[in-house]
Amino acid sequence: MYLGHRRPLQLLRPSFRSNPTRFCYSCRYCCERCIPFIIVGNGSNCLFDDSGFEGCVILNRIDFLERIEPGVYRVGSGYQFNRLGVQCTNEGFSGLEFASGIPGTVGGAAYMNAGANGQETADAIDTVEIVTVDGRHQILYRSDLAFGYRMSPFQAMQDLAAIVAVTFCLLPSASAKERQQAYLKKRRLSQPVGERTAGSVFRNPPGMGISAGELIEKAGLKGFRVGSAEVSKVHANFFINTGSSNSREMLELIGLVKAKVKKKFGIQLQEEIQYVGPFCKYSRDKDKLEIC
Ligand SMILES: Cc1cc2nc3c(=O)[nH]c(=O)nc-3n(C[C@H](O)[C@H](O)[C@H](O)COP(=O)(O)OP(=O)(O)OC[C@H]3O[C@@H](n4cnc5c(N)ncnc54)[C@H](O)[C@@H]3O)c2cc1C
Repeated sequence: MYLGHRRPLQLLRPSFRSNPTRFCYSCRYCCERCIPFIIVGNGSNCLFDDSGFEGCVILNRIDFLERIEPGVYRVGSGYQFNRLGVQCTNEGFSGLEFASGIPGTVGGAAYMNAGANGQETADAIDTVEIVTVDGRHQILYRSDLAFGYRMSPFQAMQDLAAIVAVTFCLLPSASAKERQQAYLKKRRLSQPVGERTAGSVFRNPPGMGISAGELIEKAGLKGFRVGSAEVSKVHANFFINTGSSNSREMLELIGLVKAKVKKKFGIQLQEEIQYVGPFCKYSRDKDKLEIC
């Protein structure tokens, strides 16, 4: 994945290109047989344990794009979010300018409510199509979905098997392209582009007026290392695999940074990054991960 991985992911790694039916079938197959499974888009926000995942990793490549009407796009959840952002702005629509440079899929962006530069995925969503653990296909309307900062209702939805497609409704804008290019330029200057990272490790603490990256930097932790895992010198909320780092080193680094920030500022940082462990019976609610 984006941090680099050393051990193969276990059991099954089916991949589906433009085939939602087979994708849904695989989710249902796992659910019916109580096989733990996880949906992975690009894995760009995931930290996998070195020993892999004891279950089925479903790699989502449902990558269709339909133009329903001007500014309305129905997109497969495996479609590259970055590519979608570029396409929409090239066609003169605003709402997903921030997506360029985010190396995830549309499904991952909806699940994480990815965002940047004051925009977030939820703002552009019209409907989300999901498949439930008992194999039902449902269309959920934006007005019924409560999103928050890097939070989506999908993270706590117990009967969610997978997000299959998302329909975005965008507004015409002559300046969308210009904005998108400015965001991309800013990203290249402020983030460790080209390094092996999983994006922001921590959510920004709510209502503090200070970002997680600023707190880590003020704690003097830029460049701080555990083995080959390093707090980026460019952006302190990005942790880099500088060589042959493993999940143990990365977890230790995360724990140390949390402890130091807590000690210095009394603020408890919360992870944005998603942990996937070998014996986790994967639950959609991170706080309810069951260890078998
Ligand atoms: C260099 C870099 C820059 C980044 N910049 C940003 C940024 O600016 N803003 C931002 O918000 N994030 C950023 N990220 C983080 C990440 O790219 C986003 O969160 C992205 O949306 C994750 O998409 P993904 O497909 O890689 O999801 P994954 O990492 O594969 O999955 C993330 C979570 O979503 C779940 N999931 C994924 N797809 C589905 C699906 N179809 N159905 C159900 N669940 C699903 C997974 O099970 C997992 O729990 C960055 C990451 C990197 C490496």
